[in-house]
Amino acid sequence: MLVSMKEMLADAKANHYAIPAFDVSNYEMMKAVLDVCEEERSPALLMGLGVDLVGKGLPLMTSMVSAASDFYTVPVCFHLDHATDVEFIKAAVAAGFRSVMFDGSVLPFEDNAKKTAEVTAFAHAHGVTVEAELGHVGNAMVGNENDSIKNEDPEDTLTLPDEVVRFVEMTDVDALAIAIGTAHGVYLKTPTLRIDRLDEITAVCDRPLVLHGGSGTPDDQMKMAIEHGITKINIFSDVVGALNGALKNKLNTIQNPSTWPAFVFEDARKAMREAIRAKIHAFGSFGRV
Ligand SMILES: [Zn+2]
Repeated sequence: MLVSMKEMLADAKANHYAIPAFDVSNYEMMKAVLDVCEEERSPALLMGLGVDLVGKGLPLMTSMVSAASDFYTVPVCFHLDHATDVEFIKAAVAAGFRSVMFDGSVLPFEDNAKKTAEVTAFAHAHGVTVEAELGHVGNAMVGNENDSIKNEDPEDTLTLPDEVVRFVEMTDVDALAIAIGTAHGVYLKTPTLRIDRLDEITAVCDRPLVLHGGSGTPDDQMKMAIEHGITKINIFSDVVGALNGALKNKLNTIQNPSTWPAFVFEDARKAMREAIRAKIHAFGSFGRV
């Protein structure tokens, strides 16, 4: 059975660890996350991305994760990652998501708060957890067309502690993604997290804090961020990179195009499992259930 993200994060916050949240696009990714979480006794926090949830993707992905959760003994949550459309969030909740992220981080403060409040009012009525973003976590790759804020000075997009207080009051959001120096995607240069800013935020905010752009951030910086109050860290590139890298190598060795997929995916599955286990160990979520 699926559980809400709120209870998962409450335990992480109380016990000073972070839960790695993994974006899953298909069955292989889902199974790798669930299997390793079960082996490590870690809460399993899976996330869906809009691009994988188009059309029948929405009911099929939610049905798959929900049904799969019955075969594991660790708590499982399926969280909608980076949604910007309120109507889509409502459809996702109806389809079975137990947690949603409304990302209004590129909007002006007032608009972000107003729309987030609309989402929390709806979601809370359905027992669903809401994560929002304040400040803006950009994309690491230079010239990435997916980012709506370009050529930004990272300092300008860091989360402001004063705004956090007002935002939480206005929205009653359950978890807050903050910008303290990470970026989405693959880093061209190692990030330096602003732990000083994180401390200023934790001093005024009692809600669980979320770090996006966890892939590629050095483990020692992650550990410090967790010690200073981060309870959920989003991981996409490290797992998908393991999957694609191993798949590419394997396919280069295969002569027969009609080779059985179970064999084609063999190394990719192993590589994903290693990447997932490394995050669970680095963030301290093993042995928690
Ligand atoms: Zn993100």
